[in-house]
Amino acid sequence: MANQMMDIVKGSLQVLLDDVDFLPELAGERREKAFSSLLSILSTPDHVNKSFLRVALENGQVTRVPAFRVQHNNVLGPYKGGIRFHETVKEEEVVNLASLMTLKNALHEVPFGGGKGGVVINPREYSDKDLYVICKKYVQYFSDILGPDKDIPAPDVGTGEREMDWMMGEYKSIRPGESYRGSFTGKSVENGGSLGRREATGKGVYYTFRYLLHDFVKRQEHWLSERDSMFAKTVLSLKDKSLKIAIQGFGNVGSVVALSAYQCNHLNNKVVAVSDRNVTLYNSDGLDIPALIKFVSMNKGDLPMTGDQLETAGVKAKILGIGEVLTLDVDVLFLAALENQVYQENMIDIKAKIMVEGANAPVTTVADGYLSDKGIIIIPDILANAGGVIVSYLEWLQGRETQFYTEDEVFEKQLSKMKNTFDSVFPPFFSDSFTLRQQCYIHSVMKLSNILYRQGKLY
Ligand code: GLU
Repeated sequence: MANQMMDIVKGSLQVLLDDVDFLPELAGERREKAFSSLLSILSTPDHVNKSFLRVALENGQVTRVPAFRVQHNNVLGPYKGGIRFHETVKEEEVVNLASLMTLKNALHEVPFGGGKGGVVINPREYSDKDLYVICKKYVQYFSDILGPDKDIPAPDVGTGEREMDWMMGEYKSIRPGESYRGSFTGKSVENGGSLGRREATGKGVYYTFRYLLHDFVKRQEHWLSERDSMFAKTVLSLKDKSLKIAIQGFGNVGSVVALSAYQCNHLNNKVVAVSDRNVTLYNSDGLDIPALIKFVSMNKGDLPMTGDQLETAGVKAKILGIGEVLTLDVDVLFLAALENQVYQENMIDIKAKIMVEGANAPVTTVADGYLSDKGIIIIPDILANAGGVIVSYLEWLQGRETQFYTEDEVFEKQLSKMKNTFDSVFPPFFSDSFTLRQQCYIHSVMKLSNILYRQGKLY
């Protein structure tokens, strides 16, 4: 497990060890022993599966593509987590992301464990046919360890509905007669996917921020003003402001966050900057998000990069460099691209008072500490971006029952799950001295420890 995660898990276990009301049945030497078991269980994955997929490409070449499926922990249910296709995928990274899934599911009471997959390719460099073969091979190589009650993959960076449909199709062929609908989530609606899954992560990310800044603050204004917490001061200082928002990433998560902010009438906010792998677009009066989404859908996912393209899109904006989105003078920064985007070299230039992690692990440990010490609220990945896996769970349930919910029902169920989590982590966050990330980890670790103890695993 990466140092940051490991340190916070260790810190959480220490808090729970010192809390005499937590698992009071465990005392003295037994308690020490149980907590050291907990640390070793949570800090190491159950299985790291690695293969080199042998793929015959359309251009006649035959290549070996490194692929992983890491199963971190399944004490809460089958392993669950996306498969990412990206050229920088590394074993250690997949292990970290699988651990994060264990914590994320525990935090939101999703009855799944943590897993993650990765394939070391840049999907943009392969033809559709090649990608189809890679997806099929992935399932062939890992079919023994996957399944609706064992390990359930989903989309992640570089994969989507199409890949999940292909993979489920292959799984079904390999295991005829067995149940298959719940073997993959994030499938297309036509193929047994859930309405609302595509937007679930982005909507959940925006909702987390809106719930904190609007619903929670409005309800708890007086209580917050009596807290001796720099984070309480931060939210109160923003509550009646017209909020300027910047969003890094304009893919499946960032574009949905942007549209949710654009359409939100609970908060007075405007999206002044968005970015992708090529460009940052900035307009202090607010960007026309629906026009940008339309442009992106017709231009292979890329934002306008030139004056001409902006004109075609009908959007007024200044074109800035890709990194500039992070350091603009805004109130809120959504990070919806990749990991390690805010780090030692750029952290001092961050001006936002609230940062929301739509991507997994976009802020490094050093930056997290530095920014939190300044009273900046970082809404962590495991809290903010769980909408995807929550709706994956709803998809899995619907597949079992072959009864499907409407989009409104899906969204309502997703938000009600997230709301329960917010109401259990926000009050202690503003009362104790921990960051929101630490508070979330304490919650997850508490849940996992309790179940591990009850299942007799702590010896
Ligand atoms: N890849 C997403 C995540 O990191 C979704 C996982 C899922 O739906 O299982 O949370």
